[in-house]
Amino acid sequence: MSASDTALVLALSPLISPLRFVSRVGLSRLKDLEPLVARVVDAARPHASAVAAERLERLAAAALGFDSADDAHRREAISALVRELRGLVQVPEEISALASGVSEGAAKVASVKQTALFEKPAPAPVQPEPARPSPKRAADPLATPLLQLRGVGPALAEKLQAKGLETVADLLLFLPRKYEDRRAPRTVAEAPVGERSVIAGRIVTVREAKGRRRRLEVVVRDEARGTLICIWFNYRPSFLKRFPLFAQVMVSGEVREGYHGNGKVMHHPDVELGDAEAPLQHDESFGRIVPIYSEIEGVYPRTFRRIAKGAVDEYARWVPDDLPEAIRRRRKLLPLPEALRELHFPEKFVPGDQPRRRLAFDELFMVQLGLALRRRGVKIEPGIAFRATEETISRAVSQLPWPLTGAQARAVRAIAEDMRKPEPMNRLLQGDVGSGKTAVALCAALLAVEDGYQAALMAPTEILAEQHALSLRMLLRESRVHVELVTGGLGQRERDHAARLLRSGAAQIIVGTHALAEEATAFHRLGLVVIDEQHRFGVMTRARLMSKGHRPDVLVMTATPIPRTLALTLYGDLDTSVLDELPPGRTPIATKVYKDSAREKAYDLVRRELAAGRQVYVVLPLVEESEKLADLKAATKERDRLAMDVFPGVPIGLVHGRQTSAERQEAMERFRRGEDRILVATTVIEVGVDVPNATVMLIEHAERFGLSQLHQLRGRVGRGAAKSHCLLVTGTSGAEWGPAARQRLEVMAETTDGFRIAEADLELRGPGEFLGTRQSGLPDFAVAELARDQTILAEAREEAFALVADDPELKRAENQAVRDQLLNRWRGRLSLARVG
Ligand code: ADP
Ligand code: MG
Repeated sequence: MSASDTALVLALSPLISPLRFVSRVGLSRLKDLEPLVARVVDAARPHASAVAAERLERLAAAALGFDSADDAHRREAISALVRELRGLVQVPEEISALASGVSEGAAKVASVKQTALFEKPAPAPVQPEPARPSPKRAADPLATPLLQLRGVGPALAEKLQAKGLETVADLLLFLPRKYEDRRAPRTVAEAPVGERSVIAGRIVTVREAKGRRRRLEVVVRDEARGTLICIWFNYRPSFLKRFPLFAQVMVSGEVREGYHGNGKVMHHPDVELGDAEAPLQHDESFGRIVPIYSEIEGVYPRTFRRIAKGAVDEYARWVPDDLPEAIRRRRKLLPLPEALRELHFPEKFVPGDQPRRRLAFDELFMVQLGLALRRRGVKIEPGIAFRATEETISRAVSQLPWPLTGAQARAVRAIAEDMRKPEPMNRLLQGDVGSGKTAVALCAALLAVEDGYQAALMAPTEILAEQHALSLRMLLRESRVHVELVTGGLGQRERDHAARLLRSGAAQIIVGTHALAEEATAFHRLGLVVIDEQHRFGVMTRARLMSKGHRPDVLVMTATPIPRTLALTLYGDLDTSVLDELPPGRTPIATKVYKDSAREKAYDLVRRELAAGRQVYVVLPLVEESEKLADLKAATKERDRLAMDVFPGVPIGLVHGRQTSAERQEAMERFRRGEDRILVATTVIEVGVDVPNATVMLIEHAERFGLSQLHQLRGRVGRGAAKSHCLLVTGTSGAEWGPAARQRLEVMAETTDGFRIAEADLELRGPGEFLGTRQSGLPDFAVAELARDQTILAEAREEAFALVADDPELKRAENQAVRDQLLNRWRGRLSLARVG
């Protein structure tokens, strides 16, 4: 299989999980298929052969209208989609079965033969173990239906199926949410108030108290005759039946002081009841570190654990370990069966330590392997070899009004070197706000223009595109290079005009929004693509824009400093340049947090700055696209309030999401010219504006912003010679203004280092929210956590890249398993693991 086939498989893989969902649960509950298919097809296009390309388009067409269709049409759509998909890549059997029509719901589909999740047909476990079951059993033991397990009857099987658990493999991959140490239960007397404890005893009283609030009290007496009252407030009448008098019981939860300081109580504890069959003695729920799984409706945790223990004991040994043995040994990773066993029922290791490390490694390794292959795929196909000589470089640089900073010069060198090579450049330019990325991009563009090519710069918003066009024209005012702006906001006539210039090649540097990547936009000779703030586009738009030239060079710029871990995962296939030095003449920005009640102090500072002739931004929180009207209202109201009550007589401008591009431009211009002294804005001004005379950035409801966003906003000031201020005003509501919010804002006051802020942001909010988009292209990990698994990531990446360097086609015998897993990501194992 060639590198581009691999890329196609990878690109299409996000479809598998929803299709699997359909095969299990039926199609009525499937949501948002249409946009997903569109994205996936976008991603796949660049890797498709001519034949595959046709199929891809039919696949895309099949999904059109899906989300609003009724079930009958949905069924047709799914079978059409699966038929095309089957023609492109191998799909697992249960999904393939969808091509011949989807039955009503999960019940019927369940009878469709389940292909092994662990794909290998032959029962050839990598780690043979002594007590191997007889070879007569089903071809793949891991595909054994749960119904066949001891203790699982039809009723229970149905409840498990509702949670997506049908086979042993499903069960093994349903990982505990957390663990509880039940090795040493405490007596009531020993259990400290305010701490979680496990207490074992017998039920001595069950009563309902009908005081102010109805509540159930179950009194437990331990061996030392201490008593604990367990209390439930919301419960159904049938709940009482769970507590037979004198039954053995174990409860775990936080111990609190009883009412009026009497005794100890637990509210809504986890309860494990023993019975004659399974007394509370050293089983899978007691006397050990116990896994806590997410709840399954109608199944007691204790029952579930018993089943899980049985499955793990008998079947974990069959899990094939695909990771090449050499890597496993070098990185001192547990064998996969052992890791799984320990993850479910820890015995030898601290839970969440070595066993978790093994699974996290696998997840990260597979992603890095995909990236390594993708990067190689890009590198081996011929692109444009620009001249980019010393002479053209210095000619480009001399167009700028100032010398490059050291970091800029290094980046330009690296870029020029890439551009000279016949293989396409694929480079990430990372740098804090104001580090001077635009100038670097311009140099690259000029290198392309020198050779008669066009360069396109794509920005995520119209405002940013306008800003870029403006700054490029400023920088190029002495030169004859033609900069053209293309955005969705242009009128038809302007559009046509721009289109002609693009096609004829008269437009040499083209700045625009995603409009650049649209079907209708055609270039004369596109040689370089620069993409600003890429993660806002999703990876797909990048591919589409690239397809407009003949394998153009690509430079991705990001102003949001991305923590290294994320960068490696999102941009792991790119080479990287970092601008870690700000241009001279920057002044430090003083950042201060104000409570709502102290806002007058903030306003005093604003008045002082205004009196000194400076200008001020006032930024309001971002609102959802759907609430643009509310946005407009809030912005207008704030402007009026400031104009009438706070800064009477000061001219105040307004920028918000409801304005047309022309209105916005007009408002920005007034502010830039100093006619408006204050600019009230929603975050549409987030990036790009450059007004050196503005020295104050006042942010309302600062607690609602992400740190990186605040950092971006702060970067709007401090662009001139005067000292600047960033004032973070918090809202009034207590809920929003908790300790977590304070902690976050304090990071802002402490540091102006964008990378530190990004790391903190990632840690506090998690990667999904950090990037703010579901489409960010970030894989979903079940076990790995980017914020904390940096070391594992580094190791996995090293191994993956070494492996591809050593065996680029993954042809060697020892790499077969991992290759199969990569290509069959759909049926792949760990991509399907989930923390239950
Ligand atoms: P970024 O895009 O990285 O946020 P910009 O390219 O907008 O940064 O540059 C920020 C500011 O610094 C601009 O006003 C730009 O004119 C100025 N600038 C960029 N490079 C230099 C340099 N080498 N020397 C002086 N000023 C520079
Ligand atoms: Mg910029």
